[in-house]
Amino acid sequence: MQEKYIDRMRSSSSLSGGSASYVEELYEQYLDSEESVSEEWRAYFKSIASELPAGQKDISHAQVKEQFSQLSNRRKISGTVSIEHETKQVAVLELIEAYRVRGHQVASLDPLGLMERKPVVDLALGYHGLSELDLNTKFQTKTLYFGEEQATLKNIIDALKKTYCTSVGAEFMHIVNSEEKKWFQERLESVQSHPKYDQQTKLKLLDRLIAAEGLEKYLGAKYPGTKRFGLEGGESLIPIVDELIQKAGSYNTKEVVIGMAHRGRLNVLINTLGKKASELIDEFEGTAEYEMGSGDVKYHQGFSSNVMTPGGEIHLALAFNPSHLEIVSPVVQGSARARQDKRRDLSGDTVVPINIHGDAAFSGQGVVMETLQMSQTRAYKTGGTVHIIINNQVGFTTSKKEDARSTEYCTDVAKVVEAPILHVNGDDPEAVLFVSQLAIDYRFRFKKDIVIDLVCYRRRGHNEADEPFGTQPLMYSIIRKLPSVLSQYSKSLVEHNQITNQQINQMADEYRANLEKGNSVVKGLVEDPDKALFFDWTPYLGHDWDTPADTTYDQQALVELAGEFCEVPEGFALQRQVQKVIEDRKLMASGELPVNWGFAETLAYGSILKGGNSVRITGQDVGRGTFSHRHAVLHHQKTGESYVPLQNLQNVEKRFTIYDSFLSELAVLGFEYGYATTNPMTMVIWEAQFGDFANGAQMIIDQFITSGEHKWGRLCGLTMLLPHGYEGQGPEHSSARLERFLQLCAEHNIQVCVPTTPAQIFHLLRRQVIRPMRRPLVIMSPKSLLRHKEAVSTMEELANGSFKNVLPETDDISPEKVTRLVMCSGRVYYDLLERRRQINAEHIAIVRIEQLYPFPEEELKAAISEYKNLDKAIWCQEEPKNQGAWYSSHHHLKDVVHAHNENLLVEFAGREASAAPAAGYMALHLKQLEEFITQAIGQK
Ligand code: AMP
Repeated sequence: MQEKYIDRMRSSSSLSGGSASYVEELYEQYLDSEESVSEEWRAYFKSIASELPAGQKDISHAQVKEQFSQLSNRRKISGTVSIEHETKQVAVLELIEAYRVRGHQVASLDPLGLMERKPVVDLALGYHGLSELDLNTKFQTKTLYFGEEQATLKNIIDALKKTYCTSVGAEFMHIVNSEEKKWFQERLESVQSHPKYDQQTKLKLLDRLIAAEGLEKYLGAKYPGTKRFGLEGGESLIPIVDELIQKAGSYNTKEVVIGMAHRGRLNVLINTLGKKASELIDEFEGTAEYEMGSGDVKYHQGFSSNVMTPGGEIHLALAFNPSHLEIVSPVVQGSARARQDKRRDLSGDTVVPINIHGDAAFSGQGVVMETLQMSQTRAYKTGGTVHIIINNQVGFTTSKKEDARSTEYCTDVAKVVEAPILHVNGDDPEAVLFVSQLAIDYRFRFKKDIVIDLVCYRRRGHNEADEPFGTQPLMYSIIRKLPSVLSQYSKSLVEHNQITNQQINQMADEYRANLEKGNSVVKGLVEDPDKALFFDWTPYLGHDWDTPADTTYDQQALVELAGEFCEVPEGFALQRQVQKVIEDRKLMASGELPVNWGFAETLAYGSILKGGNSVRITGQDVGRGTFSHRHAVLHHQKTGESYVPLQNLQNVEKRFTIYDSFLSELAVLGFEYGYATTNPMTMVIWEAQFGDFANGAQMIIDQFITSGEHKWGRLCGLTMLLPHGYEGQGPEHSSARLERFLQLCAEHNIQVCVPTTPAQIFHLLRRQVIRPMRRPLVIMSPKSLLRHKEAVSTMEELANGSFKNVLPETDDISPEKVTRLVMCSGRVYYDLLERRRQINAEHIAIVRIEQLYPFPEEELKAAISEYKNLDKAIWCQEEPKNQGAWYSSHHHLKDVVHAHNENLLVEFAGREASAAPAAGYMALHLKQLEEFITQAIGQK
């Protein structure tokens, strides 16, 4: 009907391009008063009204105006340039942009149809000054990747809807880089988010879905009600992961490292990594062989395998995972980076990390943000991670609305690094395949993180023993009736004559038969894997802390080494104090000054590098050292350029890396754990700014560092430097919470050391690399001792010594006179020494325990064996009684002292038990110090 009006007007000679507004005005007048316009116009306007469709009383004012304006525009296109049309063209461009920005908000992403989709005004024609009357007008489509120069507004909108508002909801317009935005526009718009896949691809997709569903059905039937955290409802995960791996292979990737929590893990283990079904069955039956340690539940197990891809063989590693959601994310990054570094791959192309998340955890856990934040930093980047969210729209029993988060999507946190986010309806397998391809292509093109939000559901409760109707009745009444993605896709393929039902059943039967035989069901699994693709850990297996390690180093070679790292390039302007540090180091090398901590530590690293190992140090301020002792990175005072002497040693390539970390402990320590459990050849060190900040990474300490070997058999040579010492700096800058580490010690899981001399740190660091045992080393490292005049060593001690777990009395004290034994660890030794010297006490021996765990009972026995006249044995610590080593090490001290003299008790001298780690007032700190030193040694 509208066309009729327009035709009528078009035939009217009175209506020309420029007169539309004039006609509108006339029409306004006519509406006010018919008599106010000429007869000719009156007849014309009346003729319009007489042609109204049946039932419609009046054409709207706006409609008529719109028609005039339309007509006017068309005339202008064919003649002179129309301002109105141009305005509309601009409006159309705005609309296109709006679809790109907001299309995802109305996309049909949720297989359950429950996702709240609020109307988006930006997508309404009226919002941009357009109306339905414009639908047949042609506009330029220059910015669109449709392959047509011009299209009607209707066609434009149809294409935009298909591209941005169907099963794929793409969020990429928040990216600052225009090239990336354009890349997405082109990839999405050129196929309208619906590429045409050939039959072979479709059948492969079907095959993957048969596998995903087949496994869950099989396990569900065989072990009903047994926890497996099934993938039912999110089966499309399997085609995603497969596609990522296969495409990565075609990009010449050699390794893929995967991290994921429990949901769907068994499915990935069996259907992607190729774990044998029989092994899984053994785990279900409880007959899996008990090899070592505590073991872990089946849905936390890691796995390694090699599979074939179009680009050749590829190594897959699924990281072991504790129950704490998301905590594996930075560990995977560290593992990937270790593998990239081994390959000297700066781009990250050869190793791809994939992190699979749950929706609730992705939005809820802070470590996600930390891990994302590290993704482009020098120390931690891995060339981009593909994140997949198994978004089943519920977190255990907590629903999205009101409770689970404050943001629209669970993925919004990823915008912190401008990561593109591809939401996809999990019940549309071809859309799923498409976003997988986009994601991996983006990762290789831009070397950045990308997120696939697989919107799906959870067919069962949180686990198989859980009843979901109790908490999500509406959601589950929909789920109960919903056919699986496999059923839906099978039906569609059959309807489109791609396959028959009989053939599908046959595929499912074959899959099941393979499972029942206990085989691996991954077709591309490499039976005889190329071991060169991954690190060889065999030299490090089977060693314990008593495996000897010769940490001596030729003294002349040490001097030469010092000469090398004290050299700075010609014209490199050093800051005055740094210059002095370097000059002093030269004097230390020549024996003119005693060796201090920073010099000994640097020599340790240099000697380790010369020995063929690499060194990686990260942490806040590690380049300089929080307390200004290291100066491993020098800064040109005029150009700002930096120079790392240890990177420029002769014959050492670039095997020393040191990076100031971003301000995180949790993700950073997780990363370094991942690095150290992957690469046994590199000395990996994380240094806390202050030791107590390690408690921000407590999950990594509890769930990986101290228990990973026991649970999963994964060795780890990570070293943690934790500045510790009571120097009056208040509750939060004194204690590295020694007691926490000691409380976690058992079965020789970690080493906890408190070295007190430069020679000790030199040998301790060297021991950690030279001894083939790979176990975490926790060092309570010094602050004031870095410059303490007594805390010094000689070059001879460095060259010819070793790390002493116990340092016996060093002053010349005759053993027969000793009646009082004071045992201690750490910097308090120097306070005790000072007091003893002040009072000239010859009856006191002070013995330092430099390794608190594993406790060196034999060495301690030897250190006190000469003191036959003891009548008092004291453990002195600067920490309050409820902290420090007292409660965890007391029984060891007691055993040794009893063995020496069964009548002796071990008494405590230290601060009173305290809720806070240390005093906040210097006066109180000193008073406490005075009291317990007096208690241990005697009056001044
Ligand atoms: P991955 O590359 O992590 O899959 O590891 C390949 C193989 O190396 C594993 O199957 C283990 O046999 C061994 N391996 C890897 N990491 C460790 C580790 N931290 N401790 C002991 N063995 C390891």
